[in-house]
Amino acid sequence: MTKLSGDPARMLLSWYGKSRRSLPWRARPGEAPDPYRVWLSEIMLQQTTVVTVIPYFEEFVRRWPTLRALAAAELDEVLHAWQGLGYYARARNLHKCAKAVVRDHDGFFPGGEEELLKLPGVGPYTAAAIAAIAFNRRTAPVDGNILRVISRLMRLETPLPRLRTEVSKALEPLVPEERPGDFVQAMMDLGAVVCAPGQPDCRACPWNGTCAVRATGEADAFPRKPAKKKKPTRYGVVFWAQSADGRVLLRRRAEKGLLGGMMEMPSTDWRERAWGLKEALRQAPLTAQWRPLEGTIRHAFTHFHLKLTVVSGRSGGTPEAEGVWSPLDKLSDHALPTVMKKVVRHALKGVSVAEDGEQDVLG
Ligand code: SF4
Repeated sequence: MTKLSGDPARMLLSWYGKSRRSLPWRARPGEAPDPYRVWLSEIMLQQTTVVTVIPYFEEFVRRWPTLRALAAAELDEVLHAWQGLGYYARARNLHKCAKAVVRDHDGFFPGGEEELLKLPGVGPYTAAAIAAIAFNRRTAPVDGNILRVISRLMRLETPLPRLRTEVSKALEPLVPEERPGDFVQAMMDLGAVVCAPGQPDCRACPWNGTCAVRATGEADAFPRKPAKKKKPTRYGVVFWAQSADGRVLLRRRAEKGLLGGMMEMPSTDWRERAWGLKEALRQAPLTAQWRPLEGTIRHAFTHFHLKLTVVSGRSGGTPEAEGVWSPLDKLSDHALPTVMKKVVRHALKGVSVAEDGEQDVLG
């Protein structure tokens, strides 16, 4: 793990002295933090932005200025005040937690992570954050901002979600004995306003002389995202079936599933193994002299890539296949998905150019 030069905690705290954010739950310099406000803000900030939380926080502390007041409130009132913040389990646990602290701790939050973890709605991150910010304990909470800063600072290659454990280990020795609460808040502020997502403002960063990605200019590539799963490729054979008078056979896809209810040219199943011609023709919708067209159609769906080959055939007599026989110039009247529009264009290159002259029937 990268060793930072100088005294990184001192550098960060000095920056924090000048650049700290003023937040309604945060103690001003020289003031003792209020564990009730710290806890309330940390619960509200779970999955929610600072900007959204501020008016809710202010309204809560106006209505329930103390933990005891909140514990004495009706759950319905709390849920009502929470409306719009989402994740209502948080509000229920908030109320439960207030009651538990009053009942089991005489109305005072415990300061240690272990005790905090026993409270309703308090997980490992929240326990570590409250212990550091409200009780100045030396802990290493990892929120999204801290995760981003450390992963860049130390150029941690491990992708999410495993990265969190690595960041926690890297952060732990950086937290100073003195002012650990300010250090943690400084890290949060640095991630929020300087080492922000996308391109950070490295010139304003107190660690720009020691940061591992600053030198290489690849900050926006960190934290590393989890590797995307490779999409499988599926294969199919499409039947460009025409009647003797040139109409094209269409059928409707099943209502449920991929491209549900849309029209298509009949095709084999789309499977993860290429088709042999003979095998594919067993699924042909009618008897004809089938002729494979040159080339392949490629299409990307969300979960797979599709490669289609097209075989073209004309029915000699009355078409016996089930479906809709559409004149070429009426194809655009049907709800054809993009992949089938590609089939039409491809088939017309192979069929119509040779037989009828090219025309863009899809408009
Ligand atoms: Fe983030 Fe830039 Fe500071 Fe590195 S130097 S920690 S990339 S703001």
